[in-house]
Amino acid sequence: MATILKGAPVVAAMNEANAARCAALAAKGITPTLAVVRVGEREDDLSYERGVMTRCGKVGVAVRQFLLPADATQDALLEVIEKINADKSIHGCLLFRPLPRQFDDRTIRAALAPEKDIDGITDGSLAGVFTNTALGYPPCTAQACLEILKYYTIPLSGKRAVVVGRSLVVGKPAAMMLDRENATVTICNSRTQNLPALCKEADVVVVAMGKRGFIGADCLREGQTVVDVGIHVGDDGKLCGDVRFAEAEPVVEAITPVPGGVGTVTTSVLVGHVVEAAEKTLL
Ligand code: NAP
Repeated sequence: MATILKGAPVVAAMNEANAARCAALAAKGITPTLAVVRVGEREDDLSYERGVMTRCGKVGVAVRQFLLPADATQDALLEVIEKINADKSIHGCLLFRPLPRQFDDRTIRAALAPEKDIDGITDGSLAGVFTNTALGYPPCTAQACLEILKYYTIPLSGKRAVVVGRSLVVGKPAAMMLDRENATVTICNSRTQNLPALCKEADVVVVAMGKRGFIGADCLREGQTVVDVGIHVGDDGKLCGDVRFAEAEPVVEAITPVPGGVGTVTTSVLVGHVVEAAEKTLL
């Protein structure tokens, strides 16, 4: 029976820390403030937004919504971003993507001030992850994987880690952050040969491939820690991950559940970034 690396205790610890930091900022007259920019009404955006607003409210982060219709122009969105960049009372910006077709994603991402990029979408933030500098903020999901591993004191230094997936949102930054913890990291992609053997060699397997139930017992062995980033809706209507949990759990040492794992921690990472951005204004 594996240890289930639940997100809830990680979230509780992060909430407590974020609330204490917000209280310290409040004593100095600063309310950490997040701008949420949403174009249109996509159901998954709305659901994430509700989660973010609840989490922010619990710890003392204010939220300001900037809502545009689905047919808004690129200029209208750029204007909103410029307004947010210039507003000293706003410390971070969450911009929902993917954006509708009429937007050029690269132009929009580049418009956001790096110091307000608490979701790690700008090239500056990604450069910060790769150079290990405090430039911008790492993508929240990638950091959530590391927060879970650290909370449960999973050894990383000198260990073999395999990251399945190389997206800029999850796989690559997670790999860089594991490298920073002195793990020896292999990044896999859709052309990788013999994935099961590679995964089996690892002490820590981070799966972020966006393929429902792709990883099963044939890719895993005893003693491993598995972090499942995937989120899908199963045939039974329930949420599930990239890993076949029922098959993996009896084999490995520790595993994150879906739901209740990485996804729950992501929002707290985001909130923590807003608090950090507010703290930086005091420096
Ligand atoms: P993505 O952009 O689609 O990237 C998937 C990656 O997996 C790609 O690099 C792809 O390789 C690789 N891949 C696909 N099939 C593979 C195979 N057979 N063997 C090895 N690698 C393979 O997805 P993403 O945005 O990183 O998201 C990954 C998953 O995490 C999705 O299920 C998403 O819903 C979930 N997610 C969760 C959260 C959260 O908060 N928990 C946040 C974001 C995303 P190529 O580059 O060669 O195509």
